[in-house]
Amino acid sequence: MDWKSSTYGQEFVHVISSLLSKSRLGTGDLGTAHERGRLVTYEDRTLTCGDCSESFTFSADDQEFFSLKGYQEPKRCPACRQSRKTERGGSGPREMHKVTCSNCGKEAEVPFEPRGDRPVYCSDCFAQQRSGGGGGNY
Ligand SMILES: [Zn+2]
Ligand SMILES: [Zn+2]
Repeated sequence: MDWKSSTYGQEFVHVISSLLSKSRLGTGDLGTAHERGRLVTYEDRTLTCGDCSESFTFSADDQEFFSLKGYQEPKRCPACRQSRKTERGGSGPREMHKVTCSNCGKEAEVPFEPRGDRPVYCSDCFAQQRSGGGGGNY
């Protein structure tokens, strides 16, 4: 049996669901099999992260949540998922653009791409503008 290879995702889900239905119909060990509405019982499982190969716990709560949402089971540990998110979300160091302050003429860096049609200020002048020197002249 090398169920780990090839069609890992679908195959695996299939195996799980057949396991679940077996345990439902099966031995009666669960004792609560007659109760309707909560036939599926989840147990904490240990999965292996596809990124760092560490094993992590896919908790019963998470499993229930994932299946409610129709998600595939996670392929990465929480840490790797988190670092992926931050990589993509761009909450890391942002790209800075060099600009010349429209007010004092100093060189400054801003975290956005300056547009030609708008004045750009260094942080000092920006703070001044915000604190409201003499109202906008826009
Ligand atoms: Zn990982
Ligand atoms: Zn300035």
